[in-house]
Amino acid sequence: MLLRVEGISKSFGGFVAVRDVSLSVDRGRTACVIGPNGAGKSTLFNLITGHVQPTRGNVFLGDREITGRAPHAICRLGIGRSFQRTNIFPRLSVFDNIQVAVLSHMNRTLNMATPAHTLVRDETMALLEAVGLAGEARSTSGTLSYGLQKQLELGIALASEPQVLLLDEPTAGMSPQETADTIALIGHIVRDRGLTLLFTEHDMDVVFSIAERIYVLHQGALLAQGTPQEVQANEDVQRVYLGEADE
Ligand code: ADP
Ligand code: MG
Repeated sequence: MLLRVEGISKSFGGFVAVRDVSLSVDRGRTACVIGPNGAGKSTLFNLITGHVQPTRGNVFLGDREITGRAPHAICRLGIGRSFQRTNIFPRLSVFDNIQVAVLSHMNRTLNMATPAHTLVRDETMALLEAVGLAGEARSTSGTLSYGLQKQLELGIALASEPQVLLLDEPTAGMSPQETADTIALIGHIVRDRGLTLLFTEHDMDVVFSIAERIYVLHQGALLAQGTPQEVQANEDVQRVYLGEADE
């Protein structure tokens, strides 16, 4: 078990956004959290990455408890993420956006004797290749298509050399073609780097095509969990979630 969440809850004032949720993802596996808008998916991710403090409950990365640590500390320990909304410097080039992320990671891990300049450039180029943006290195990031901006964001997340990748709606707002390309890219990167992936997604075709395990959130609580087949066959899920999605 690489990532484990135990009985986590979050209240905002009197409103319970996440209620007693437990989940776990084995090393190298892919799991998906689904649920209607407002179900608590992004809040759950923010609890795991330290952007929101839990009201109660625990988060473990391997044997280490990481509950409530600062986001940068959790990132350094090996959980990388992308946000539901794009999180890049639009006026910087694609290369510079990745380089900033690489530098920020290396500054924390290298010592003074390292030939940093070459390393940084090589690592930046490798990440650009990995996310399919080598040809756009000199482009101004803000002028990229939405799909390419999300690829850039993925490159930024990978710069911290995560073991676990959390992707919050990685295909939100994408055309069908961008969605297909992005999912193929994510699958390739995850396999290539042996990453453990936890993602949220509203497109059920995407979910059922890549998730090995699915957790269904409804009004902050876990409604169901299991393999894609089990979740698809679950009557509570059909009534509460899949029914709403068809509306
Ligand atoms: P999802 O990602 O599944 O759409 P969210 O986690 O974004 O759901 O939100 C779950 C619920 O928590 C929503 O009702 C939302 O309005 C509420 N919520 C999220 N963040 C906050 C916050 N910082 N303060 C108050 N309410 C919040
Ligand atoms: Mg969300």
